Amino acid sequence: MRFTPEKLSIPDQRMKAFIDPDELWRLINNTKADKTRVREIISKSLAKNRLTLEETAVLINASGTDLMEEIKQGAKELKKIVYGNRIVLFAPLYVGNKCSNNCQYCGFRASNKDAVRKTLADTELTLEVEALEDNGQKRLILVYGEHPDYSAEYIAHTVRLVYGVKKGHGEIRRVNINAAPFDIEGFRKIGEAGIGTYQVFQETYHPEAYTWYHLGGKKKEYEWRLTSLDRAQEAGIDDVGIGALFGLYDWRFEVMGLVRHTNHLEACYNVGPHTISFPRIKDAAKLNLKEEYSVTDSDFSKLVAILRLAVPYTGLILTAREAPDVRREVIEYGVSQIDGGTKIELGSYSASQNEDQNLNREQFRISDARSLAEVIDELLNNDYLPSFCTSCYRMGRTGEHFMEFSVPGFIKRFCTPNAILTLSEYICDYASGELAEKGWKAIEKNLITLEPGVMNTTREKIEKIKAGERDLYF
Ligand code: SAM
Ligand code: SF4
Repeated sequence: MRFTPEKLSIPDQRMKAFIDPDELWRLINNTKADKTRVREIISKSLAKNRLTLEETAVLINASGTDLMEEIKQGAKELKKIVYGNRIVLFAPLYVGNKCSNNCQYCGFRASNKDAVRKTLADTELTLEVEALEDNGQKRLILVYGEHPDYSAEYIAHTVRLVYGVKKGHGEIRRVNINAAPFDIEGFRKIGEAGIGTYQVFQETYHPEAYTWYHLGGKKKEYEWRLTSLDRAQEAGIDDVGIGALFGLYDWRFEVMGLVRHTNHLEACYNVGPHTISFPRIKDAAKLNLKEEYSVTDSDFSKLVAILRLAVPYTGLILTAREAPDVRREVIEYGVSQIDGGTKIELGSYSASQNEDQNLNREQFRISDARSLAEVIDELLNNDYLPSFCTSCYRMGRTGEHFMEFSVPGFIKRFCTPNAILTLSEYICDYASGELAEKGWKAIEKNLITLEPGVMNTTREKIEKIKAGERDLYF
């Protein structure tokens, strides 16, 4: 059901710039964090309530090892009780790096004349998807620069192409998008191609800081970017992802901006963001940044724990921009999706030789270059259940993380069995030896946590997978 402002007789805030920097700074500067208050707020979140801006500011202001530890423990607890031990896996696929914008932090920016510009031809895109399928990937996010060549029609074309590529048992079952924002008509065309989530990161929610970094092209218009997911919603895309690029401005302000964006979407469209991303700036060709805002590892883990508690129903995405040890720690605070086997240089999944990373065709440097199998191996070692599930999207259940969060018993009836089935497929098709053995052990361990009826049906489906059937889900 859609929100109709007239009926609720409150002002229609759709398409309105909703960030008031003074309000956010006032809350950050005037909110005190004492132990009792911090504990109350953690309990509110553990009772599955989204936090207000003021409550988020209290957590931001919490200092001292003990309080920080309580916030991190709260985030861990929330992850455990709400989401369980599954981690959804995906891979990014860069389609083209032409760009008319001039974002000072990005290797693709127009003024970087050394960048080798490339858009994958359909045949090259097909090869990339086949290579990703050969690794066992089922969920991709397609990434594009912002350029007239990457029109809504072109993006929709690439989405359809990707869905059509099948190799052996391989297929891509969910295509998410990270691309420039469009007008309503453009979003509608892309939505019709059957995308999963449409991500647009605001980069920085601070209007003035935004002008420091965005020096050219359409992206320099702060409000066009800020209201982009309103246009996506108006176009019928209700599965949207927000994000901030940490390191451009004060991280505390960006956390408040993300929460403000969340309550704007909730108030206007009756649905919050499906995912929140929190990329931290990484080395890119001729990076042009303000050092004072760089985010330490310790602040980074703090901000992830705060985001988990502030918006308990969203998926949190952590990418290979971060090094394995940072990922290992931060995953515990409630991350629900990570990429594995990531390569961001255009055309590199299918390249015959794994060339050295070359900053001229990639946007920035990643810090976790492990293969998908290595990432899965580590997840299994740490008692996580890797999942390639795409069931909610294909059954028309919008917002997989929201379903997990809001429907009692949903995880045990749907998510865990589907994770088990997609991991079984992965093992049968792409794993061998020790990894396969570890995977089957994890499957058995998770199977016995299910209700007897669901457990038995899941076991039957696993036998069918072993016999060659694919794409079985609840
Ligand atoms: N061109 C589109 C845009 O700007 O929205 C979409 C693709 S852009 C390649 C995806 C995201 O990468 C950006 O939104 C930004 O947050 C992130 N990014 C850009 N430069 C980065 C860097 N040096 N380190 C880490 N992330 C970066
Ligand atoms: Fe272009 Fe996006 Fe990079 Fe900005 S962040 S230069 S819009 S690819």
